[in-house]
Amino acid sequence: MNEISGIRASSGGRPQFVQLIFVDMNGVPKGMEIPIGRYEEAVEGGIAFDGSSIPGFQGIEDSDLIFKADPSTYAEVPWEGIARVYGYIYKDGKPYKADPRGVLKRALEGLEKEGFKAYIGPEPEFYLFRKNGTWELQVPDGGGYFDLVTLDKARELRREIALYMQAFGLVPEVLHHEVGKAQHEIDFRYDEALKTADNIVSFKYLVKAMAEMRGLYATFMPKPIYGFPGNGMHLHISLWRDGENAFVGEEGLRETALHFIAGILKHAKALAAVTNPTVNSYKRLVPGYEAPVYISWGYRNRSALIRVPAFWGNGARIEYRCPDPSANPYLAFSAILMAGLDGIKRKLEPEAYVETNVYEMSDEERSKAGIETLPGSLGEALEELKKDKVVREALGGAYKNFIAYKEREWEEYVTYLKAKELPLETKKVTEWELERYFHV
Ligand code: GLN
Ligand code: MG
Ligand code: MG
Ligand code: MG
Repeated sequence: MNEISGIRASSGGRPQFVQLIFVDMNGVPKGMEIPIGRYEEAVEGGIAFDGSSIPGFQGIEDSDLIFKADPSTYAEVPWEGIARVYGYIYKDGKPYKADPRGVLKRALEGLEKEGFKAYIGPEPEFYLFRKNGTWELQVPDGGGYFDLVTLDKARELRREIALYMQAFGLVPEVLHHEVGKAQHEIDFRYDEALKTADNIVSFKYLVKAMAEMRGLYATFMPKPIYGFPGNGMHLHISLWRDGENAFVGEEGLRETALHFIAGILKHAKALAAVTNPTVNSYKRLVPGYEAPVYISWGYRNRSALIRVPAFWGNGARIEYRCPDPSANPYLAFSAILMAGLDGIKRKLEPEAYVETNVYEMSDEERSKAGIETLPGSLGEALEELKKDKVVREALGGAYKNFIAYKEREWEEYVTYLKAKELPLETKKVTEWELERYFHV
């Protein structure tokens, strides 16, 4: 790869370049490359860069930032012959307030002060497109959930991804065709929250690169096609205390888990702004596609927003089904964990769990059971976020940047709808969304 007149990006198997990677406010990886000779400098003093054109970061009047590599994240990018590393951003000698990875680090320190450690395992879904100047799904794949052989044209690609994942320290667990045509899922092993957030960034980078090499385009856009299932990213979450799963005891779920669930349900509307942060996210959260719409919880119940899978012992966890892969994983984890922690601190109790299909309940039945509805649009979710102190504070110094950036995004969409004379409730996926989010 990358061979130009005999000179290679790696020499004798050793990378000659290192990509310094961080994510912008959207969770999209950004980075610069340095010759390997500068790597020490990147770890120790940091490398300066101009943050003015990074979505959601600084204005041009004050945009000098420093990237400091976190050497524990160093990995080789085997197909490029280079290395890459994640890190933290600094400004004026201090941690930069809007650095998403720094926000999560600080949130986890808060959690640790309360005695907890968080483990998260994601289930990211994606579609494969052939992008010939159109947005049509052109992969000749008629498959659906768990289909094999002729209906599953991407099986080799999925395996290739799983093999390369290991180079990045991810442990693939399950690979399968998803419900949508040309939709796929690869689950990887849970890890500490910061590691899992890094892993999600690595995973998306990897899937896109592998797809590109086969002439395909992978998108994690939450709802690329109207009428098709969306791309979710369910999160399996557990808290641990003193080396033990704090969610279960001898007799099943502990109070800690119930309070955590109650905290998430209480803040679910504001959380949506962070776990489902794009205009397109709300095209996914509609009935009929296994995506959550109502704020409820249940055991095994996949129509609920929070599901408690039937695993006890140390594997016990909750599954939060709302997040989608357009979320910035660092900010989403911070927000979810702080919402859950609020439930624990205030000993909140969740409403009764539901055993029936929530979609089939009447409005009256739902309201009797205390089941509310998730925000119907990014605009609504942002209003909820503005009202929710706990979730706002979970984003720390990034909150101001986040809300300003996202409000502008929402306004641009509203302006587009007006120009096209489309109603605010438009559930079809617009050209505006495809232009803006297809690369997500
Ligand atoms: N694609 C669905 C979603 O949007 C999830 C389907 C599944 O994994 N059961 O969340
Ligand atoms: Mg799954
Ligand atoms: Mg799935
Ligand atoms: Mg799931």
